[in-house]
Amino acid sequence: MHIFKTIQPLKKFLTKAVARNKTVGLVPTMGTLHEGHLALVNKSLEDNDISVCSIYVNPTQFNNPQDLEKYPRNLASDLAMLEKTQCQVVFCPSDEEMYPEGKENSLTINMGYLNTVLEGKYRPGHFSGVGVVLSKLFHIVNPDRVYFGQKDLQQVAVVQNLIHNLFFDLQLIRVPTVRNESGLALSSRNNRLSESDKITATALYRALMMIKEELQKKPAQVVAAQQKGLRFLENEGNIKVEYLEIIDTEKFGIVSDTRNHQEIAICIAAYVGEVRLIDNVLL
Ligand code: AMP
Repeated sequence: MHIFKTIQPLKKFLTKAVARNKTVGLVPTMGTLHEGHLALVNKSLEDNDISVCSIYVNPTQFNNPQDLEKYPRNLASDLAMLEKTQCQVVFCPSDEEMYPEGKENSLTINMGYLNTVLEGKYRPGHFSGVGVVLSKLFHIVNPDRVYFGQKDLQQVAVVQNLIHNLFFDLQLIRVPTVRNESGLALSSRNNRLSESDKITATALYRALMMIKEELQKKPAQVVAAQQKGLRFLENEGNIKVEYLEIIDTEKFGIVSDTRNHQEIAICIAAYVGEVRLIDNVLL
């Protein structure tokens, strides 16, 4: 496994590989890897000659400084996990390498409508930081394919927009959410949950599945299904729901009737104790 901390040697390595007609897949992550991340890496390994996994806790996408400070970091164990997957390349740069202009002087990107709903609304500046760091990574790696988890569904829509509007010549692959045996979506943030909160957090998935069942029976009764899910979560204690919305995955418009849309998702963000978790299921 080749580990790069700086841009130029990585670019040199990849230019040579591309000259030999090798295809390149990129899996951007913030580290503290788990099976969810590895599903992305494994898909990239299947599809491409060379896979690059980036590990970088991007400061410009954190709207809350405490969240950035508390974000778990485990580079040594991340590298050991990646080694086992046969991933060929890891890119783990410093802030100075990624933001030589200074984090405070970073460009910003206005994601338009996507900034006004769900994650965009509740995490001001988040998608700007995501867009900037991914634009940098796409230019550095120049991948054929990039891999993102369905778990961060709105991020998928943001990246599709970025690719389209900035003419990036690459394909986005969405990989299904990996869950534990109780249904809890794997997340690096789960490391910050107490053992009892880990059990409480499984209620999020149960609420999403409950709403899904309701909507399958009554596709036009969106508000009733949403209310049923919220009532269920109210009784769980130690869960504070930030949003629970039913949207179409293409435009991220909030829908009042689930019929006549290509793909619908039920999305939630909630605090379990002090930890903010997000999850979604497709209808
Ligand atoms: P993160 O390190 O949290 O920024 O996530 C890096 C990538 O892994 C993103 O594309 C996430 O959507 C994806 N990811 C995180 N958790 C999961 C999961 N449980 N299942 C599938 N993909 C995931």
